[in-house]
Amino acid sequence: MTTENSRITNVGADMTVEAWPSNEPVLKVRGLTKHFPVRRRFLGRGPKKVVHAVENVDLELYAGQVTAIIGESGSGKSTVARLLAQLYVPTSGEIALYGKPVHVKHGKAFRTYVGQVQLILQDPFGSFNPVHTIAYHLRRVLRIHNPSLGLKAIDDRMAEVLKEVNLAPANQFSEKYPHELSGGQRQRISIARALAANPSVLLADEPVSMLDVSIRLGILNLLEKLATERNLALLYITHDIASARYFATTATVMYAGELIEGGPAEAVTQQAGHPYTQLLIASAPDPDRDESVERIKDIGQPPSLIDPPAGCRFHPRCPFAMEKCHTEAPPKFDLGDGHWARCWLHESGAAATPMFPKEE
Ligand code: SF4
Repeated sequence: MTTENSRITNVGADMTVEAWPSNEPVLKVRGLTKHFPVRRRFLGRGPKKVVHAVENVDLELYAGQVTAIIGESGSGKSTVARLLAQLYVPTSGEIALYGKPVHVKHGKAFRTYVGQVQLILQDPFGSFNPVHTIAYHLRRVLRIHNPSLGLKAIDDRMAEVLKEVNLAPANQFSEKYPHELSGGQRQRISIARALAANPSVLLADEPVSMLDVSIRLGILNLLEKLATERNLALLYITHDIASARYFATTATVMYAGELIEGGPAEAVTQQAGHPYTQLLIASAPDPDRDESVERIKDIGQPPSLIDPPAGCRFHPRCPFAMEKCHTEAPPKFDLGDGHWARCWLHESGAAATPMFPKEE
């Protein structure tokens, strides 16, 4: 049954969404691709080359839900976040916010979109100007996105968003400079700054990876609470598959610029259907595992994205690679209940992927 959220949101100059069905994605991405040209001085003479950073990505983000993109460094997951935040222009593909295709580069439509789709960066310190106070950063966002608000109303809103991220009383934090706060407090401020724009979508790019282990859980719990209370569609980008299992409703796995597995987070992280996802799980720290007997076999490095492998991009590292894996890219195979994987091992409908080999 279709239920509706009651959020009232202005999306673009020509659209007002008063009630958006909860079973429709707030942000929908189809065929998103980004190629970065490589400068000739790095390659010498010869044909122009590109880095195939993101290839043909489909993604859907729903109100009140957390969707994770999991992948190692250089897999393209942060580029996806920057494409969705309009920091990069896609090479091809379509992004639709509340069902409307987005083609904004500047002006009022751009400001409206970036107000709706806010990015939280990995390094909170690097995202603040060190010579300005926290109040300066928050008031600036509030003013840009609410030009009709007076000074008193802006300060009231600032206190509200600081309270939402558990930084109260506001004046204890607002007059400080970024370097006077702890890493966890700075990340809370960067979340407050995103909330100040009153977004519908939050893109959290490795939001806890630069924080002490002891405070990571608090930030993840805060993001989950905000997604629920504000009915936010939250994209959680991480290299840590264990945190995605704990935190996300839906998970997708990215390898060499492509999404290779996706579905309910529980299924993706507990019954991985793609050998690369198995490798990620086996490589994650697990206090219950006997490392002396379960060390995973070394299978080499990820491929160059300037000249990615033909067929399945994982085939040079995959112990199960077959002949067709070298030439034909696998399509999405349905594993049931919304779980899918791009791996030829599922072509015959086999129930499970063989287990990744361990060192002798
Ligand atoms: Fe391995 Fe082939 Fe599956 Fe790719 S498609 S993961 S190479 S078995």
